[in-house]
Amino acid sequence: MDDQREAAETEPPSSGAAPARPLFPATVKDRERTAAFPQSERSRNFRRRHFPRASVEDWNDWRWQLRNRIRDLATLERVFTVSADERAAVLRHKGSLPVGITPYYASLFSADDAADPLRRTHIPVGDEYLHMPGESDDPLGEDHDAPVPGLVHRYPDRVLFLTTGFCSTYCRYCTRSRMVGGGGEYTFSLPQWQRAIDYIAAHPAIRDVLLSGGDPLTIATDKLEWLLSRLRAIPHVEFLRIGTKVPLVLPQRVTRDLVRMLRRYHPLWMSLHVTHPDELTPEVAESTARLADAGIPLGSQTVLLRGINDSVETMRTLMHGLLKLRVKPYYLYQCDPITGSAHFRTPVETGLAIIRGLRGHTTGYAVPHFVIDAPGGGGKIPLLPEYFAGRDGSDLLLRNFEGQLYRYPDPGAGGPCASG
Ligand code: SF4
Repeated sequence: MDDQREAAETEPPSSGAAPARPLFPATVKDRERTAAFPQSERSRNFRRRHFPRASVEDWNDWRWQLRNRIRDLATLERVFTVSADERAAVLRHKGSLPVGITPYYASLFSADDAADPLRRTHIPVGDEYLHMPGESDDPLGEDHDAPVPGLVHRYPDRVLFLTTGFCSTYCRYCTRSRMVGGGGEYTFSLPQWQRAIDYIAAHPAIRDVLLSGGDPLTIATDKLEWLLSRLRAIPHVEFLRIGTKVPLVLPQRVTRDLVRMLRRYHPLWMSLHVTHPDELTPEVAESTARLADAGIPLGSQTVLLRGINDSVETMRTLMHGLLKLRVKPYYLYQCDPITGSAHFRTPVETGLAIIRGLRGHTTGYAVPHFVIDAPGGGGKIPLLPEYFAGRDGSDLLLRNFEGQLYRYPDPGAGGPCASG
């Protein structure tokens, strides 16, 4: 373990009143029996091979997973056949967005193939250091829209509450790479949370609060409850949402205690950051079932990534898999032009072709909204393949999913309804 990195990484906020504690102390355990969590054969084999001293209970303890994340080259080389490109990129890294992979999530990666989709999203390569025109460290202009640190107020009725700079795993294409994983100018603390809560309480137009980060589900259950209870106590806050990747990369975190706590703060919705069908394991089936059974509506958010999930077939498999887990495909994002992300970005036409390949060819619930988060703070802008083919008199000409042309008598264009 690289001790310097361990010290530099941002910890989820604490009250500051308690004595200093190490990250994820071994003595703190969830009340339930951790052995009850399912473990796939693949994960079991990985644990026995690479963590032979870890018991099933250790493996299923989310704090053990966090303490034993893969964070340095030596551990990567113990587990994977690291390519020369990966090795050089890891050695070159400084600052925020460090390497961080839970053992569970690493068990889903190919040991030998550096082109493996999930592996590419979490082990850096040299292309990450190429800076292309149009890229930026804060492409969405979030810092500009922050009335208090850690709170983005762009749309009148909702805010983005950045709760922590900590994630259980670090995605190489992260839009907030400037602030996650420590090493930057961003800090998160209870006084900062309080300032954000005070701002929300003072602005009655805010009816919807999205907790994000970093990953809010890495915060200890009692601290997260403190935050949710303060927000729920504000009369005009109607709706709470949590954006998280934890149920996919650290499903063991979705303990019965956590779920019991979350269900006290309904209406509470959750957006799950999902990348590839390889993530949909028995462990994830359990984490999503626990959340869905607690009445938490689940939606997915997926970033379109070159060579990783940029085909109709992969995306259809992913969306169908999500529906089986009771997760509604919600957004498909064009990859933000974050600094060093060119190797992940696809042409916009790729996303349109995927939507064209889904819409009409499968159940409508399986089709996400394809959006670009407009650089500079313009917000999400939906993109659709061209189904509108023009007009013929008062008829609307429309192209269906098979490319066939159809007419719709449009009363708004001078027909009998429009004339009264
Ligand atoms: S989990 Fe989300 S916030 Fe964390 S590194 Fe990945 S994309 Fe960024």
